[in-house]
Amino acid sequence: METVRVNVVTPDGKVYDGDVEMVSVRTVEGELGILPRHIPLVAPLTVGAVRLKKGSVVEKVAVSGGFVEVRPDQVTILAESAELPSGIDVERAQKAKERAEKRINTAKQDEVDFKRAELALKRAVNRLEVSGK
Ligand code: ATP
Repeated sequence: METVRVNVVTPDGKVYDGDVEMVSVRTVEGELGILPRHIPLVAPLTVGAVRLKKGSVVEKVAVSGGFVEVRPDQVTILAESAELPSGIDVERAQKAKERAEKRINTAKQDEVDFKRAELALKRAVNRLEVSGK
C-alpha cells in the first residue's frame, strides 16, 4: 500500500511523524482527505481532529488551528497546539469546557469575549472527543 509521510509539529515540538495511507484534516472550508501523491496545497486549519489511517487502525490527533502543507510525498501540519489521545488531560479539558460554557452564558453582550469562549469550548470538546471521553 502506498503511503505518505505525515509530520505534526507545534511551537512546542514534534507530536507525530509517520507514514500513513490516508490523512484527513479539518480546514476552514471543510474536511480534507489526503492520499499519497495529492496535489500540492496550503490550507488554514480550524479546531478539529487529524485522522491518520494505517491499515485498519485510525489514530487521532486533536489540533487547534494552524496550517496544513500538502506535497505529493509529505504532509506537514503546523498546529497551534496538537495532542495525541495519550497526551490529553481529560480533567483539564472537562474543566475548560465548563469554564467556556459559563462564559458563553454570561458574556453574550461582549462579542469578543463570546467568540473567545466559543473557541475555547471547541478546543475542549475536540480534546474530549479525541481522547474518547
Ligand atoms: P486550558 O484552558 O485548559 O489551558 P486551552 O484550550 O486554553 O485550555 P490551549 O491554549 O489550546 O489551551 O493550549 C495551551 C497548551 O496547553 C498547548 O500546549 C496544549 O497542547 C496544552 N493543552 C491544553 N489543554 C490540554 C489538555 N486538556 N490536555 C493536554 N494538553 C493540553
